[in-house]
Parts: sequence; structure tokens; C-alpha cells
Amino acid sequence: MSATILVVEDEPAIQSLIEVNLRRAGHVVRLASDAETARRQVQEELPDLVLLDWMLPGMSGVDFARLLRSETRTRLLPIIMLTARTEERDKIEGLDLGADDYVTKPFSPRELMARIKAVLRRHAPQATEDVVELGGLRLDPATHRITADGVELNLGPTEFRLLHFLMTHPERVHGRSQLLDQVWGDHVFVEERTVDVHIRRLRAALEASGRDVLIQTVRGSGYRISEA
Ligand code: CA
Repeated sequence: MSATILVVEDEPAIQSLIEVNLRRAGHVVRLASDAETARRQVQEELPDLVLLDWMLPGMSGVDFARLLRSETRTRLLPIIMLTARTEERDKIEGLDLGADDYVTKPFSPRELMARIKAVLRRHAPQATEDVVELGGLRLDPATHRITADGVELNLGPTEFRLLHFLMTHPERVHGRSQLLDQVWGDHVFVEERTVDVHIRRLRAALEASGRDVLIQTVRGSGYRISEA
């Protein structure tokens, strides 16, 4: 499993404990010690998940979570809140921030990793290594293999990630900037027509199997994968 995880935590010891464990689990780690820095990082690159400490200098984790939930681009970003005590946890859960999970300090790294995995499964399946099947296609993130009716296909790395994202979010229309965020991790410096280029390559790679029809263009909106 390789997700990009933003850790917003001001205590250096806890920050590095989390960092070490996330890296060991194969994740890409971004670090911030306050919400303002984290906000800039999110603007540059959308992570797959945010681990967010409640008590931070400056803007609190609670306010940062609210901010993320209020903006379209980050509305669905998975958030796990870290709190110091059970009473704090009860209090922020009562505030209904829309965090996907809450973990109380001190936590065991094993528990935290399990919670992260569960939240990613539910909200960012493209960041997990679960096999996905759709319309005769079978994509295995662990081995980087994709087959159509059992026949192996050759896809470039970007086309593979693009197809993985589409297959884990089927039937929904994805705009170009959203795809740039989710697949390229960059919606600022990569041009939107780059998406069209890679969609073309993806269709070409699927053409021989007849599965290119799964990738649909929704005029004026973006792309979707659908069996219908
Ligand atoms: Ca803190």
C-alpha cells in the first residue's frame, strides 16, 4: 500500500514516530507542524489522507478540519484526528467535524496503521493494493498487472494510475483538475490537456481487448468509467 499521507503534528517525537511507521508501511509522508503550513502543502499536492493533531500552535486541528471540509477540493479528503485524551476525543467527536476516524494518544503504531488502512479502504481505494475488477478488466496494484479477460495488457505508469483511479471510482464523472489532483498529485503545474493525452493513450492500450469503450468522455465535464 502506498498512499501519500500528510502528518500535521507539532510534537517532534510523535511526528517522527508516525513518520517512521508510515514509511515502513510503504507510504509517502509529508510533514507539517502547524495548520498554515499544512494548508499550503495541500494546495500544492492533494494527499490521500491527513493525520491531524487537535492541539496545534496557531489554527487548531479542529478549525483546519472544518476548513478542509468547507472547500470543494478537499471536502472528501480522508481525515484522522489525533487527540491527547479520551475526554478530548469525546469533545471533538461531539463537534461533528466529519473526521473519518479519531485516535487517542498515546496510541500504538500498529493500531494507528490499522486505522489508516481501514480509512483508506473506505475513502481512498486507489491508495490501497486491493485488486479491482470491472467490465472484464482486472487490475492488481501489488504486481502492477492488468488483464482483460485474462490477457495481460501493457500500460505506461501514468495510464496505470489513471485506470486504477477510474476503476476504484466507477460511474462517476471526474473533471480534469480532479484527475490531475488524484492521479498526478498536482493540479497547478500540470496542464489539463495532459489528462486528455493520457486518456487517449489509455484507450489505445485497451483497444485491442475492446475495453476502450469503458472509458467515456462526458462533454464539458470530464471522464468516467462505466460498464453501461
Ligand atoms: Ca499538539
